Amino acid sequence: MKKDSRIDIKNLSPEELGLFMAGMGQKPFRTKQIIQWVYARGVTDFTEMTDLSKAFRENLEARAFVSDWEPEVVEESRDGTRKYLFRLSDGQTVESVRIPMDGERSTICISTQVGCAMQCSFCLTGTFGLTRNLETSEIVNQVCAVSKDGPVNNIVLMGMGEPLHNLDNVVRALQIFYIPEGLGFGTRKVTLSTSGLVPQMVELGQRIRVNLAVSLNATTDEVRNELMPINKRYPLSELMKACREFPLLQHQRITFEYILIRDVNDSIQDAKRLVKLLHGVKAKVNLIPYNEHEGSALRSPLAESIEAFQTYLLNRNIVAIRRASKGQDISAACGQLKGKLDRQQGQLPLPD
Ligand code: SAH
Ligand code: SF4
Repeated sequence: MKKDSRIDIKNLSPEELGLFMAGMGQKPFRTKQIIQWVYARGVTDFTEMTDLSKAFRENLEARAFVSDWEPEVVEESRDGTRKYLFRLSDGQTVESVRIPMDGERSTICISTQVGCAMQCSFCLTGTFGLTRNLETSEIVNQVCAVSKDGPVNNIVLMGMGEPLHNLDNVVRALQIFYIPEGLGFGTRKVTLSTSGLVPQMVELGQRIRVNLAVSLNATTDEVRNELMPINKRYPLSELMKACREFPLLQHQRITFEYILIRDVNDSIQDAKRLVKLLHGVKAKVNLIPYNEHEGSALRSPLAESIEAFQTYLLNRNIVAIRRASKGQDISAACGQLKGKLDRQQGQLPLPD
């Protein structure tokens, strides 16, 4: 079958969509109309866009289409967290997680790549390597598809992949999330988490507003080099400099994610060094107990080390939140996406 050479509307930033419309001789307000149909109403068939002329709809149909996703599998955890598996057109899969908050509200955790090239030693995704970047539409469609299942109020780019390793598509997806007539997310409702690609962090700050989260996970270069190889290229001093210079709105802070791993980074000495590192940074800290998995020999921290670590930070006026990992019984915990299903399908050998 001939590959569809038409443009997927969901791959276009609002500006690009405007140019596409102009190229078809259409007025700028047509862009807004299409955006409302596609993102606010979830209509993906041009023939249903009844406020556009028939000739224009036919012209659109010939040049473009709107991709639409349904999950292949949905798993629900005891705590209400839902994990969605999507099959991509080339057979690859990605996962998204919907985490309920109070009442009807929820946060969606989305993926930005199939796999990840960063090879962090604690992360299951990291052990597979990078298969490919997700296209803009493949990032956006996770939000569109999961929204059909209930309201989504916050987006976190913390699923599979390193978002700053796919910067152009991620920036385009953020631009789409923010269109007021479309999905309508405020810039404060979206958080991007990075392992610390310093030049791309700087570029991100110049190109678009988004909450920034940094996976820190260590307080010395020695330990961070071991846990996160990217640290050999961009050591802590450079990473923290980029954080101090990252443009923030009023009252906005950078979130530092810190996975506590037993006897690796969970001592009071680490807490002390962390306080020093964060000096001069508008920061808050998310403490995440390491999730054990068969891909790694690292271990979860003892309850008393978590407690002591958090207390040390709080006593020095650092906002430190313990983030319980939700959805553990369905392997929806961060960094654990993707592995389980691939093993079930026999793509990966089962662990002994
Ligand atoms: N690549 C980006 C964003 C996605 S990583 C980044 O590294 O920030 C997903 C998140 O899951 C990161 O915060 C990572 O630190 C966390 N994570 C990975 N493996 C984990 C594990 N075994 N236990 C707890 N958190 C883990
Ligand atoms: Fe990639 Fe993030 Fe996992 Fe590191 S923690 S391997 S950067 S997904």
